[in-house]
Amino acid sequence: MKYDYVVVGAGIAGITFAENIARRLNKKVLIIEKRNHIGGNCYDEYNENGVLIHKYGPHIFHTNNKKVWDYLSQFTEWNIYYHRVLGSIDGKFVPIPFNLNTLHELLPESSANKLENHLIREFGYGSKVPVLELKHSTNKDLKFLADFIYEKVFLNYTTKQWGMRPEELDPEVTGRVPVYISCDNRYFQDRYQGIPKYGYTKMFEKMLDNKNIHLMLNTDYKEIIDEIKYDKMIYTGPIDYFFDYKHGKLPYRSLYFKFETYQLDQYQPVGTINYPNEYDFTRITEYKHMTGQNHEFTTIVKEYPKDCKSENDIPYYPIPQKENMEICNKYKNEAEKQKNILFVGRLAEYRYYNMDAVVERVLSFFER
Ligand code: FAD
Ligand code: UDP
Repeated sequence: MKYDYVVVGAGIAGITFAENIARRLNKKVLIIEKRNHIGGNCYDEYNENGVLIHKYGPHIFHTNNKKVWDYLSQFTEWNIYYHRVLGSIDGKFVPIPFNLNTLHELLPESSANKLENHLIREFGYGSKVPVLELKHSTNKDLKFLADFIYEKVFLNYTTKQWGMRPEELDPEVTGRVPVYISCDNRYFQDRYQGIPKYGYTKMFEKMLDNKNIHLMLNTDYKEIIDEIKYDKMIYTGPIDYFFDYKHGKLPYRSLYFKFETYQLDQYQPVGTINYPNEYDFTRITEYKHMTGQNHEFTTIVKEYPKDCKSENDIPYYPIPQKENMEICNKYKNEAEKQKNILFVGRLAEYRYYNMDAVVERVLSFFER
């Protein structure tokens, strides 16, 4: 059979592309996916106890982009959910991102009041300040606070998660969780937040339910691509793999997920608890908080960061560092020369994208 398009990878990037090609262009698409399921890292499933889990770690959808939200809302209803994270710090569970409530819980009343006034005067109520920026403060009280937050919240968590200190990474990494000069305890402030009501996989199945879309699982595209006739390719796998690592391997960080199920209504008070300074894992997430599932059992997951070394390690996180971006740019230059092949998504662009950014990117290709 001849296809108009081949899409490599059935993650959110590949599926969104295929859906748009099939519906808006009315063209035939073949999706080739090497795993035994669709959804990439957003995949969810019911485990042996009947609890809905995210197999590759907790995924909360959040966006300020109405187009992205409306687009996905064609394929799912939402369980509106505002993610809450606590950090285990100095023997207490305190709100993360570090905000004015965290300040009052961790510091004595008089210094907390003084620091709160300083922060509001300097940055304004409601502003967000990356910790590495706050550390450059010339005011000695704010510098003290920045060092305190850096030590208690960021240093050990980042060392566990990335195997390096915060300042060795692009500031965008720790900047994802800025100090929030507010009493709003939500992890994200985006206008639209939620989890697909019947799960991500169900949403993706609906997106793929089109006679123009064919799906081939359990197949690395390199095994069969020479046997397929097609006009154009959308590639969402790792960009260095596409080019046979000719400019060197791009490093990734991987994770080991340890799932535990308990016959309990609830294991912990919020969706996620971060453990910056204890244990080898970074955080514990309890899925029922986000999925809204009522069940006599509950499942939690502990995330143990590790290098991405063997074939079996899944490349979860591109590592945003100058030297890696230099290698990546060499691949991007090659990619631009490929006629009829488009590279899109977290692996193909080597970018620390959230789900909404990936969908936004795909939709913007179609708008152009
Ligand atoms: P992927 O999901 O990686 O999909 C790529 C697909 O290509 C995979 O299925 C892969 O098997 C396939 N593939 C690769 N190589 C080949 C090949 N050679 N042949 C065939 N198929 C191939 N984002 C949020 O917005 N909110 C969150 O709360 C959130 N939490 C996250 C938590 C964790 C632990 C992680 C790791 C990520 C999280 N993300 C979150 C980010 C989100 O997972 C990504 O934005 C999204 O999955 C990227 O989609 P993608 O399609 O680009 O890549
Ligand atoms: N981070 C941290 N302590 C925290 C939360 C986050 O040091 O309590 C840093 C850490 O480097 C982490 C990054 O901020 O990798 C981004 O956090 P986020 O929660 O966005 O990570 P993700 O959900 O993508 O794993």
